[in-house]
Amino acid sequence: MSQSTRLRIAIQKSGRLSKESQKLLKSCGVKFNVNEQRLIAHSDNMPIDLLRVRDDDIPGLVMDGVVDLGIIGENVLEEEQIERQTLGKPADCVKLRELDFGACRLSLAVPNEFSYQDASSLEGLRIATSYPNLLRRYMQEKGINYRDCMLKGSVEVAPRAGLSDGICDLVSTGATLEANGLYETEVIYRSMACIIQSTQSQPDDKQALINKILSRINGVVRAKE
Ligand code: ATP
Ligand code: ZN
Repeated sequence: MSQSTRLRIAIQKSGRLSKESQKLLKSCGVKFNVNEQRLIAHSDNMPIDLLRVRDDDIPGLVMDGVVDLGIIGENVLEEEQIERQTLGKPADCVKLRELDFGACRLSLAVPNEFSYQDASSLEGLRIATSYPNLLRRYMQEKGINYRDCMLKGSVEVAPRAGLSDGICDLVSTGATLEANGLYETEVIYRSMACIIQSTQSQPDDKQALINKILSRINGVVRAKE
């Protein structure tokens, strides 16, 4: 596939970031209609194509230069960066700015009956997570050995199902933890959505369009502060 002359922006297809990502671009004057069945939405008034994908795919698409920009949670970006650095794959991209949505934290949590002092209470225990790299970095910094339980979903039910002793999962209000008989013990990473750019050099007109979009985003986010 050759490099597109149109600006490619990857956003989450459906999930917690998708509506806000679309709203942000629309408030920057990018006109488009999303067809739920379609991967790509073409803008009618600017040379921009939106790629609607799983959020986990967005950092890699930007780092590989498949798309020019991506809107993604910092948690997913950081997780992918550590993963790629570990594998020796290209992990470069530029964080253009943090956005004003997608606030959450990656936290350790344990069952209500677990008597927790500090992270060392998890020594030798099994922790379920979808973020094995962020968890490993934190536990290595603390010098704690633990056992992995990698789950892409349903992390919060792992202790009750007997799969793990604790979890490391995204939290915003804490209601999901409470509903599953868990309590939060440590915040290991705080995250917001952000917009990232590929490090590939761009033709002048494309870079000018990126600058225009970014300056409008700055205006939109500032106006809400
Ligand atoms: P996909 O199908 O695209 O892989 P997903 O299920 O992995 O979606 P979502 O649950 O939609 O992802 O969350 C997307 C992002 O929203 C998270 O990575 C995080 O940055 C942010 N977020 C904000 N609050 C929360 C929360 N309470 N729980 C999970 N994610 C949150
Ligand atoms: Zn995902």
